Amino acid sequence: MSKQPSSYLSSKVEGRLKADKSGNSIFATEPILKGELVAVFGGVVYEWETFIHLPERERMLCIQVEDRHFLVPRPIGEGDYVNHSCNPNAGLSGQIGLVAMRDIKIGEEVCFDYAMSDTMAYDEFECLCGAPTCRGQVGGNDWKRPELQKRYAGYFAPHVQRKIDAQKAEQKAFAKALRSTKAEKFGAKVVTSLYK
Ligand SMILES: [Zn+2]
Repeated sequence: MSKQPSSYLSSKVEGRLKADKSGNSIFATEPILKGELVAVFGGVVYEWETFIHLPERERMLCIQVEDRHFLVPRPIGEGDYVNHSCNPNAGLSGQIGLVAMRDIKIGEEVCFDYAMSDTMAYDEFECLCGAPTCRGQVGGNDWKRPELQKRYAGYFAPHVQRKIDAQKAEQKAFAKALRSTKAEKFGAKVVTSLYK
């Protein structure tokens, strides 16, 4: 059986143990330009019901690729050590591609925001990323936050983008219904006053 990792990692980045030894991460070893492909995640796809029973380590390294589907790396490689940051320099391109959201300098850690892929509560944690924009807690509903939808526009996985579009359509329909209800009330008042 091949030992080649299931995920691809650009030759401009490498996996390293973090300075505080808190875990693995990937760092740029060459400058990366905005839009450049950094990684392509690979592995085996599991449905939610099977996925939640996998060992914790496998669940932690996976990426959610559809509403109820999860890609688990096998064999694990450096490309699977991309961490979360609330101020990321990379975002998703499709379900499994990772691209630079801005130019990345040598020595910078490459991170994305898990809100770009997660809509299920399988990997919720207290965030210690240290970014000024850190939201403190990372969870499966973060994609609903308007400020994140704005900041990461174009970098959400397709299944997350579909949810965002549906949420926006719902909000629009609600606002429209509210406006017509108000108009009806206003209209009723006008009619009443005419008969006085
Ligand atoms: Zn954070």
